[in-house]
Amino acid sequence: MTCLSELMLEGLPGHPLQALAKADQLWHQYRSGPTPQPPVIQVSPDRLSQVDWDVIIAGGTLGLLLAVALVQRGWRVALVERGQLRGRDQEWNISRRELETLVQLGILHQAELEQAIYSEYNPGRIQFLGSDPIWVRDVLNVGVSPAVLLDQLKTTFLAAGGYLLEQTPFTAATIHPNGVQVQARPPLSARLLVDAMGHTSPMVRQARAGQKPDGICLVVGTCATGFEPNTSGDLLVSFTPLRHQCQYFWEAFPARDGRTTYLFTYLDADPRRLTLSQLFEDYWQLLPDYQGVALADLKIKRALFGCFPCYRQSPLRYPWGRTLAVGDSSGQQSPLSFGGFGAMVRHLHRLTSGIDEALTWDCLGSRALGQLQAYQPNLAVTWLFQRAMGAGVDQVIADQHINTLLGAIFSDMAGLGPGTLTPFLQDIVQFPALTRVLLTTAVNHPGLIAQIIPQVGLDTLVKWLGHYGSLASYSGLASLTTPLTSVDQILPPLGRYYLHRWIDALRYGSGQDYHRSHG
Ligand SMILES: Cc1cc2nc3c(=O)[nH]c(=O)nc-3n(C[C@H](O)[C@H](O)[C@H](O)COP(=O)(O)OP(=O)(O)OC[C@H]3O[C@@H](n4cnc5c(N)ncnc54)[C@H](O)[C@@H]3O)c2cc1C
Repeated sequence: MTCLSELMLEGLPGHPLQALAKADQLWHQYRSGPTPQPPVIQVSPDRLSQVDWDVIIAGGTLGLLLAVALVQRGWRVALVERGQLRGRDQEWNISRRELETLVQLGILHQAELEQAIYSEYNPGRIQFLGSDPIWVRDVLNVGVSPAVLLDQLKTTFLAAGGYLLEQTPFTAATIHPNGVQVQARPPLSARLLVDAMGHTSPMVRQARAGQKPDGICLVVGTCATGFEPNTSGDLLVSFTPLRHQCQYFWEAFPARDGRTTYLFTYLDADPRRLTLSQLFEDYWQLLPDYQGVALADLKIKRALFGCFPCYRQSPLRYPWGRTLAVGDSSGQQSPLSFGGFGAMVRHLHRLTSGIDEALTWDCLGSRALGQLQAYQPNLAVTWLFQRAMGAGVDQVIADQHINTLLGAIFSDMAGLGPGTLTPFLQDIVQFPALTRVLLTTAVNHPGLIAQIIPQVGLDTLVKWLGHYGSLASYSGLASLTTPLTSVDQILPPLGRYYLHRWIDALRYGSGQDYHRSHG
């Protein structure tokens, strides 16, 4: 029987049906558990006779942002990309204030930034079946063209003296006491190897030892024309009860060449879970109801899909010295939004100055570099929310439970004002705002809070309370760090390096970096 995806996607450029089958294979591997992989990182006690570069970055999507920032600070940077350095056509959504960090950091001019912005919409809706809509403005409403952005950054990188090797896959590396030797054609050596190869990075696979992801987000969607004119967007909408033991969420917004619509769901990697292709069939069946459009009226520009794994032990710290994961490989993006571009932009200043100091003071051991991917309680607390937005394969919960729960919590959050809701929607969880929401929801809906315990499990809740406690202490300590920055000059370089990382960990781990980038 011909499926709807075949009817709708057949003949589109880029062979999306084949790419979908490949993405489904990856999802199958996650569900079926660890498969042995040959190690790609070896450690040698011998010194290298010569080290050519300060930094080699493997992977040139988000890796390029860091490459430009480092080369502009005077470091010798080589970028190794297995394909062509080219961003995808589909926009990344982000908020404008966050994006301006790229101009503040000096890696883009304002005019270049405006060129890369392909779309901007307002307002954005949040709504769950059975609840009233909530409208917000200026949240994740700017669409950036990855193709334009990467093209501009590539020019800047090369002009500043960066060395780019395209069509050059990273296959293996050996870590020596004074540098890393990367196997590539030609072979390259550097003081530091940065892994920006995304969540399928071979280095990640080795470090995580084939561990099964703790959570997954499946996303399917399209960019298409044929919709009624609509200049508003949806940030998080659900209009169905549980289906295949999944709560379906939708996102929609105007894009440069049509309207983008995504269907996504949070689940575990149980072997009985639905495939991406099955989710796509549900997307076609539900899209007409969601957007009030007939499939026959749509002209599909491109298909969009992905399978995002996430691990509780994130951000990832490599056990070897001279190696650092950034972007999706590091798992520093939120398990809720999977907005890896947004997360990289948010952390770019911290990563650039941290790597700069690590290179200057030769703090390149695994412990020192691990401080650049420190524990973030504000990331850890979002695990509970992800768990509360999905259902276990065998779990018995009311079909409408997740919609009712989210409807209540979001309406309480909205009632507390944009200062509470807006940062949360941008992946910033702060202790005072979270506490206000918890207290308000406990008072307004005590029954609902009680139902969360059996839904997420006591074990998850107890662990979560630990992270919540850490968030409280990080928040308290972060506000005390300002005087420390003025006395750090009396410390030796190593002490300064650790102090700066500790301050960063407290600020970013408590969400206090948000105030800096949002004025
Ligand atoms: C449908 C969809 C919609 C999304 N929307 C948004 C959004 O609106 N906002 C947002 O912030 N994020 C969004 N994301 C997430 C965002 O695209 C990712 O977080 C981002 O692409 C991660 O970049 P990365 O460089 O870390 O990894 P990747 O994008 O996976 O890039 C890895 C790079 O490394 C290269 N590479 C891989 N292996 C090797 C190797 N062995 N040797 C050399 N190079 C290698 C690859 O060719 C690639 O260039 C979306 C993702 C999807 C799938």
